[in-house]
Amino acid sequence: MQAGFLKRHITAFFAVIFFFCVFTSIYGCSKKPSAQASNKAQILQVVVSGYAPYSIAKEVLKDIADISILIPPGADAHHFEPLPSTIAEIQKADYFFYISDKMEPWALKISNGSGLALAVNLPNLNPKDPHVWIDFANTYKMAENIASVVVVKHPEFEDKLAKNLGVFSGELKMLDRLYSKIFTNCQSRDIYHIGHMAFGYMAKKYNLNFRPLIGATFGAEPSAKNMATMIKEIKNKHLSYIFTEEALNSKIAATIAAESNAKTLNLYTIEQATKDEFEQNISYKQFMMMNLENLTKGLGCGE
Ligand SMILES: [Zn+2]
Repeated sequence: MQAGFLKRHITAFFAVIFFFCVFTSIYGCSKKPSAQASNKAQILQVVVSGYAPYSIAKEVLKDIADISILIPPGADAHHFEPLPSTIAEIQKADYFFYISDKMEPWALKISNGSGLALAVNLPNLNPKDPHVWIDFANTYKMAENIASVVVVKHPEFEDKLAKNLGVFSGELKMLDRLYSKIFTNCQSRDIYHIGHMAFGYMAKKYNLNFRPLIGATFGAEPSAKNMATMIKEIKNKHLSYIFTEEALNSKIAATIAAESNAKTLNLYTIEQATKDEFEQNISYKQFMMMNLENLTKGLGCGE
């Protein structure tokens, strides 16, 4: 009697399990692809001007957007010449982000005001220097600007945006602490840079003396007089290292280094990346860590 009762219950139990499995497999089969399709449709299409906004947008919009970059690897962000296809690409995208009208004067014109200049409401702004992302507090604000715009139209991403922003904020604070700590104790505070005026924000924040060979515009020809003055100063100060930008004419850097008896180290502006760096997907944090590593060596910072 008891065995029969148990058997009936076991049979009923397996019948329920069987029904449940059939139901879930049918439901699962018909439901899964449409769920995947709708997730795919939710990925936003974002276009950015150059590597600086690309490296920031990538952090904030992780798992939220496909991001494409307009300025090709190695090209000059200041003097980019947009093609008709560039305009079409911007029009197709959900969002277009760039740094500022000062950094990319072409961006406002071709986006017809539909793009977002990220360099608004920055905590530290030097109107003469467009390289605002070299300051970690500015970079955080620009990341926040992206999140604020996206969440208005896409509140479904609110949690993801908050999470991504939180992670990025932690990294930026960590970088700032590290920079502050390393730069408290250096044998030299003179950054002689065979490049353009891209690191002014860093120098101001950490009390370094930044001496670029050319002004704020990448690609400007240095004058012979400026080169001669720089060589003289480097020699007088007996500096072992000077700095340069990888995208710049390396012959000028090699000449100055040879004449002043110094070695060169790279600094990365992040406004452009080489093809290799782009393919390796080097992040903002990685570039700023490489800068810190080279500055530590070049200025003799540390214990
Ligand atoms: Zn620049």
